[in-house]
Formats: sequence, C-alpha cells, structure tokens
Amino acid sequence: MYPRAFHYHRAGSLQEAVTMLSQLGDDAKLLAGGQSLIPLMKLRFANPAHLVDLNFVSGTSYIKEENGSLLFGPLTRHAEIENSALAAKIPILHDCAAGIADVQVRNRGTIGGSLAEADPSGDWAVVLMTLSTDVRCLGRNGQRTVALNSFIKDAYTTELAHDELVSEVTVKMPPKGSGGAYLAFKRAAPVYPTASAAVQLTMEGDTCKDAAIALGCVGLTAIKATDAEAALRGKAVTEKSVAAAVEAARTVADPQPDMRGSADYKRTLVGALVKRAIAAAVRRARGEQVEVNHLYA
Ligand SMILES: Cc1cc2nc3c(=O)[nH]c(=O)nc-3n(C[C@H](O)[C@H](O)[C@H](O)COP(=O)(O)OP(=O)(O)OC[C@H]3O[C@@H](n4cnc5c(N)ncnc54)[C@H](O)[C@@H]3O)c2cc1C
Repeated sequence: MYPRAFHYHRAGSLQEAVTMLSQLGDDAKLLAGGQSLIPLMKLRFANPAHLVDLNFVSGTSYIKEENGSLLFGPLTRHAEIENSALAAKIPILHDCAAGIADVQVRNRGTIGGSLAEADPSGDWAVVLMTLSTDVRCLGRNGQRTVALNSFIKDAYTTELAHDELVSEVTVKMPPKGSGGAYLAFKRAAPVYPTASAAVQLTMEGDTCKDAAIALGCVGLTAIKATDAEAALRGKAVTEKSVAAAVEAARTVADPQPDMRGSADYKRTLVGALVKRAIAAAVRRARGEQVEVNHLYA
C-alpha cells in the first residue's frame, strides 16, 4: 500500500528540525532511517501530514570517544556501529548492531531512531540498559540529558516531547575486568527477535563484582532483571549462582503470547539466553575473544 500524502520538509540542522516540529504541530514526524516509520506509513498505521527529514543534517552520524565514554550521533547507522573498531571496544555493542535484521535495514536504521521508536522488540534499548547510557535530547529550550532507564516510558513511548529529538547517545566505557554479551533468538534474520538477553559483568577473579542484565521482547519495554543481577553480584559465578540468576530472569519476564510463541515458551527461552550470555560475558571479561551470534529457529 502507498502511504497517505504528506508534506516533505528537509531540515538543515537539528535545531531547525526542532523548530519545524514545533511549528507544524502534532501531525509532524521526524524521518531518520525510515526503517520503522515508512513500513508503518505504508500500512497506514502512521499517517503524519508532515515529514521532517534529518538525513541531510551534516555531522549527525559519528562515533567518538571522549572522557571515558563513547558518543553516538543520532543518525549513526547500525552498520556503522557494526563495523566500528571504536564501538568494538564494548563488544556487546557489536553483538547488537551486527544482529539487527539484514544488511539493508542495518545500512539505513539509526541508533537515535531505534531509541525514539521504543519498540518493545527493538534491540538497542536492551543492550544499552546494561551499560551506563544517557540520551541527549534537544528541544526548543536547549539540550537536556536523560538516563536511558528514564527515557523509555512504555511501549512506543519515551520521555521526548513532541518538539524534541534525540541529539546524541552517550555510553560510558565499562570498568576494567568487564565483559558483556547480547544474544537473541530469531526465526529469521529480517525479523525482530522472539526473545533476547543482554548481560554485562565486571569480574574480579571468579567473583562477579557487578552485573547488569536486561531482557528483550518479554515485556512492554526492555526489562532490567535486577533480581537476576543480585543473584550474581558479589558472588562466584558458579552453576548455582547462574541457575539463581536464570530463575530470577524467568520470573521477572512478562511475555505476551503471539505468533512467535506462547508466554511459557518465551519465558523458558529468555532463561536459556541469559545463561548463554552470562557464559560469554564471563569469558570476555577474562579477555578471551568470543564470537557471539544470534540463534535462529
Ligand atoms: C524488516 C525489518 C526488520 C527489522 N528488524 C529489527 C530487529 O531485529 N531489531 C531492531 O532493533 N530493529 C529492527 N528493525 C527496525 C530498525 O532497527 C530501525 O532502524 C529502527 O527501529 C528505527 O530507526 P530508524 O532510523 O529507521 O527510524 P525511523 O523509522 O526513521 O523513525 C522511527 C521513529 O523515531 C522517530 N525518530 C527518528 N529519529 C529520531 C530522533 N533522532 N529523535 C527523535 N525521534 C526520532 C521518528 O519520527 C519515528 O517516529 C527492523 C526494521 C525492518 C524494516
């Protein structure tokens, strides 16, 4: 189906895009990679009267290291992150970027668009929730910084006002002795996962000093599995502590049954993904080169 007719506006700067949003009102939407918005418009689930295109704003696609953090421009494509040596310093970022859909989607889709879309099945929020991530938001009154955990409010709902946009995503470098892994279970490459798990651990010998665990596609937003983290934090990573973390992750998961599987199936699946992701994260924390690939049905 063709989208409904709309007016096209090309923003010359992020500030101009904000002004356009504010002048055009609720019927205006930003266009980044178009990988979520255009399919929704073609299905006529989204019918914006105005599209404000960010793609011609220069200097919006970058990956930089500054003051112990990685900085991502709002229009940084998944593929740029997948192929970035800088982003590979935090291996879980590479796991995420490389596993999103197929090459076409990764070449167009952006990190800013993904977070702004807040799709409950999206990958970035799950992974970035296990890291110290801030979202810089630009509005009429200037910039503000929102922690990712507060940025995503609900399914498809964020902290952004209508005339505000994501201007940068900042990820703090994990401390020494850290390792993380992200694993999703998918039916095919160009579809969203059935379930996913992100684990970021800081190890001191066999002891887990700190743990961050997030679950994807098993709730209306990515879920921070705090009880699962507590099951590992300050403890040796043993069969027993891992089993406790897996059980806690299964308990906090709140999946909806759909064409991808029943709620019980997804709950079992997410537990298995957490277990595998912990194993890979521990090895990476020890400095091993571990390749992590999504699992396909
Ligand atoms: C076939 C297919 C499979 C996919 N599979 C996956 C998958 O497995 N995992 C996954 O995570 N994603 C998947 N995606 C989605 C993809 O990752 C998109 O890139 C992402 O959801 C949105 O990014 P975008 O840049 O394309 O945003 P757009 O589609 O351009 O915009 C999405 C929304 O965000 C708003 N927006 C965009 N940029 C900004 C900004 N800077 N500030 C504020 N608002 C903004 C737009 O107005 C719109 O409402 C898939 C997409 C397709 C088409």
